[in-house]
Amino acid sequence: MRIDVVSIFPTYFDGLTLSLLGRAQSTGILDLSVHDLREWTSDRHRTVDDTPYGGGAGMVMKPEPWGLALDELAAPAETVSETPRPTIIFPSPAGEVFTQATARDLATREHLIFGCGRYEGIDERVFEYAADLGEVRLISLGDYVLNGGEVAVMAMVEAIGRLIPGVVGNPESLVEESHEDGLLEYPSYTKPSIWREREVPPILLSGNHGAIATWRHEQQLERTRQRRPDLLG
Ligand code: SAM
Repeated sequence: MRIDVVSIFPTYFDGLTLSLLGRAQSTGILDLSVHDLREWTSDRHRTVDDTPYGGGAGMVMKPEPWGLALDELAAPAETVSETPRPTIIFPSPAGEVFTQATARDLATREHLIFGCGRYEGIDERVFEYAADLGEVRLISLGDYVLNGGEVAVMAMVEAIGRLIPGVVGNPESLVEESHEDGLLEYPSYTKPSIWREREVPPILLSGNHGAIATWRHEQQLERTRQRRPDLLG
């Protein structure tokens, strides 16, 4: 999968060179490039924002650098006649909420472009223009407001990246996770079996795999009922 990220703070994404996603890049499973939006400015101050039409507080990201960035990053590769259109994702608190289902869907795409907003956001015409170049998605990390899209993109790239085949060594570990079956995950324990007078539930030491599976499912239901009853519908 190819991922391009555009931001005015590209060093935010240094963390994506670590751990599983770092290894996925060195083995070629993931082709991740982070770009500085200011590369597509032409004035001395490398300006990316301006005052809002209609007045109001804050600044708005100018459309010109975004247009040039998208032209370059969404352009079809010259060597491939049938290059798939990219999926262009703008993090936004006013977008659809990101879920595990969104991550699963986006993990099947060949090319994702993420555009990180700052200030009051990006000039609305950029989203309309981007729709000529690919599928546009405005995606929210949750119902709160961040200072910029970088943290949201980090979270999305990590959630999507770990679903790309080959990124997580043991694919079975992806199956039994919170949100994969609409429930929260069961509690996990490791050695020692007694720690500070707290015992591991005896069923987990029984070796009875059927009983363990039943117990874990009950725990999933109970946790979900207590912490996230909305998931149970
Ligand atoms: N004025 C915008 C609004 O009220 O919808 C908020 C702008 S916010 C300060 C700046 C940028 O942070 C946004 O353009 C977006 O890229 C990012 N952002 C903020 N909250 C977010 C969230 N919950 N999910 C995803 N991105 C978010």
